Amino acid sequence: MSKILVTGGAGFIGSHVAEAYLEAGHQVAVLDNLSTGKKENIPAEATFYHADLTSRKTLETAFSEFKPEILNHHAAQISVNRSVREPYFDAEQNILGGINLLQVCAEHEVRRFIFASTGGALYGDAPKIPSPENTQVVPPAPYGIAKACVEHYIRFFTTEHGFESVILRYANVYGPRQDPHGEAGVVAIFAMRSIAGESCVIYGTGDQTRDFVYVKDVARANLAALEVKQGTYNVGTGNETSINALFAEFKALNDMLEVTNDDARPGEVFRSALDATRAHKDLGWEPKYDLTTGIRETYGWFRERSVQS
Ligand code: NAD
Repeated sequence: MSKILVTGGAGFIGSHVAEAYLEAGHQVAVLDNLSTGKKENIPAEATFYHADLTSRKTLETAFSEFKPEILNHHAAQISVNRSVREPYFDAEQNILGGINLLQVCAEHEVRRFIFASTGGALYGDAPKIPSPENTQVVPPAPYGIAKACVEHYIRFFTTEHGFESVILRYANVYGPRQDPHGEAGVVAIFAMRSIAGESCVIYGTGDQTRDFVYVKDVARANLAALEVKQGTYNVGTGNETSINALFAEFKALNDMLEVTNDDARPGEVFRSALDATRAHKDLGWEPKYDLTTGIRETYGWFRERSVQS
């Protein structure tokens, strides 16, 4: 059993990771500033620290009290659009906040650092699909630039301070608790629109593809990352799903669902999928959920919530 501090554990993915760690018998604390996260997402068994990555003082309190052995870093400003509009703010949260956290980890002798990075936002329009980890990193927006930068800092801290690190580069994660009001969670947005009886908006032709990986599979990758040798791993299904095909999944659940087409969004990556062969070999990880099953589970969760509210 390890003591694990999950930053961003009040958010979508971090809360599923915290749950998976608790279920595996670990002692878990969550550190979050609740900027997009919600208290109700934090598992009841986890200790909660209301702290900000950019505040050394609040980080110190959490580390001194909880004394984590492993740090799982999910807290971030996750809006790509906001990173384009406000690159300084993005860098402050995601780069400087990350360095702050790494420094506190080094001072408190954290043994292992696990980082939620990204595949698509690092590789951009990659020459090879699905893209392996050695794809050239050419982030099209500050959000990806910050992730690449923190990856470099992690490698530096790993060498300089002797802790182990695992970098997980996610594809497009979807599932229960994703924010349907954000810009990125197309699955959550389609689910909410379908339940509300509103039409789904598809930008451009709808032929653009993404690699949708279910959040419970991502949580399992974070479990595997506790044990394995350090390294950088893609976490995706390797399957390309077009937005039109995704819409068809929702149409199968609600025949009344309609679609509206709008202009393509400038700068949008056209094709994206991650090759997770390395995670399969080294972590023994592969996705268990196919898209239809994951969508059904997600849709059911959103529907239940809409009935309750
Ligand atoms: P989310 O917004 O639900 O979670 C982020 C959490 O971080 C929130 O709870 C928020 O309150 C917290 N947070 C933000 N800034 C903070 C700060 N300065 N100090 C403390 N807490 C702060 O987003 P998510 O989709 O769950 O993303 C989790 C992580 O996974 C992020 O690092 C994101 O970049 C990464 N990621 C997500 C995806 C995806 O498809 N959702 C893909 C690749 C990588």
